[in-house]
Amino acid sequence: MTKTVFIDGKKIEYEGNKTLLEIARENNIYIPSLCYHPKLGPASMCRVCVVEVEGMRGLQPSCATIPAEGAKVLTNTERVIEARKTVVNLLLSNGNHNCLSCEVNGDCELQDAAYHLGIEIPAFLIEQPEERDESGVFILRDPGKCIKCGRCIEGCNRLVVNEVLDFGYRGGEIKVICDNDIPMGESTCVQCGECVQLCPVGALIDKKAIGKARTWETHTVRTTCPYCGVGCQLELHMKEDQIVRVTGVEDAQPNQGHLCVKGRYGYDFIYSGDRLTTPLIKENGVFREASWNEALDLVAGKFKQIIQESGPDTLAGVSCARSSNEDSYNMQKLFRGVFGTNNIDHCART
Ligand code: SF4
Ligand code: SF4
Repeated sequence: MTKTVFIDGKKIEYEGNKTLLEIARENNIYIPSLCYHPKLGPASMCRVCVVEVEGMRGLQPSCATIPAEGAKVLTNTERVIEARKTVVNLLLSNGNHNCLSCEVNGDCELQDAAYHLGIEIPAFLIEQPEERDESGVFILRDPGKCIKCGRCIEGCNRLVVNEVLDFGYRGGEIKVICDNDIPMGESTCVQCGECVQLCPVGALIDKKAIGKARTWETHTVRTTCPYCGVGCQLELHMKEDQIVRVTGVEDAQPNQGHLCVKGRYGYDFIYSGDRLTTPLIKENGVFREASWNEALDLVAGKFKQIIQESGPDTLAGVSCARSSNEDSYNMQKLFRGVFGTNNIDHCART
C-alpha cells in the first residue's frame, strides 16, 4: 500500500513500514545520524537524527519513528538544529577528536555532522582522553574518540555473535569494554573487524591501514574473497596499486558486509615475492619456466594418455578451497562430463 509523508513541505510517497530516517535517505534528504546503521536498525541513542513531527510532543528520533499516514515532518527548524548542535558539541568535547591526524578524517560520521551543523570548535572543555589499546593484532582501539553509539557492541553481539564487546561501568565512566574490561589482545576477540566496519568515527581502526593513505587518496575495487568458496564480497581500498584496507560490501550477498579475519586482514600474500608468476615444468627433478600453452598441452596430453592406457577412474581431482563456487562447479563438470570419472573432491571437505 502506498503511504504519504510530508518532509519539509515535500510530498513523498513510499511503500512499506519505514522509519522517517529511511524515507529521508531514500529521497536524498540529509538528516545526520550516528548510532543508526542500516544493518543494526534503530538504536535511538545518540539523538542526532531528531526531527519535529506535527502533533507529537518533543523532538522525535527519526531513526526510530514510523510516521503516521500524511504526517508532516520538519528536519531543519531552529529547535532541531540547536538540539543536534548540543549533542554533537558534547560528543566532540568529550574526547580526543583530533581530525587532522585521525585515520578516518574524511570518512567520519561525527565529522560530517559537525560540518553540516557548522561546528568548528567544540563548545565545552575537552577531557583527558583514555589511553589507546594497541594489544589487538589487527585492531587499534582509541577510547578517546568513542562516542558511545553502541554500533560495535550490537555488531559483535547480534551480527557476528562473538559476544566480546559491551558497555561497562555507569554514568560518566561508561565505556566500551572487551570481556571483563581486559585489553582486546587478551580477550576472546577473534579480530573479525566487524566492529571496525561499523564504527562511525575513528575509535576502532585497522592497524594495517595506519599511515598508508588519507581516505580521499583511495579508490575502491570490488572483488570476491580469495580464501574459500563462500564468495564473500570485498571492497579493496586502494592507493594507486596498493591495498590500504579491506571492507565487506554492505548490501551484497552472501556476506552482507561481514568478513572473517582472513578475508579482512589476510591480503599480504598478494605482495609476496615468492608468488609464482609463470607455469613451471619439472624436468629431471628441476623446475623450469614454461608458457601457459606449453604447460596446458603437457597436462592435457598426460591426462589423455592415462585415460587411454588405464581408464578414467585412474584420474582424480581435488579442487582448491580458495576457488569460487563457480570454479569448483566447472572442475567437477570437467571430471564427470569430460574425463568420465566421479573421482572429484574438495580439499576443505574434511
Ligand atoms: S573484531 Fe569481531 S569479535 Fe572482536 S570485538 Fe570486533 S566484532 Fe567482536
Ligand atoms: S567504538 Fe565506535 S562503534 Fe563502538 S561505541 Fe565507540 S564510537 Fe560507537
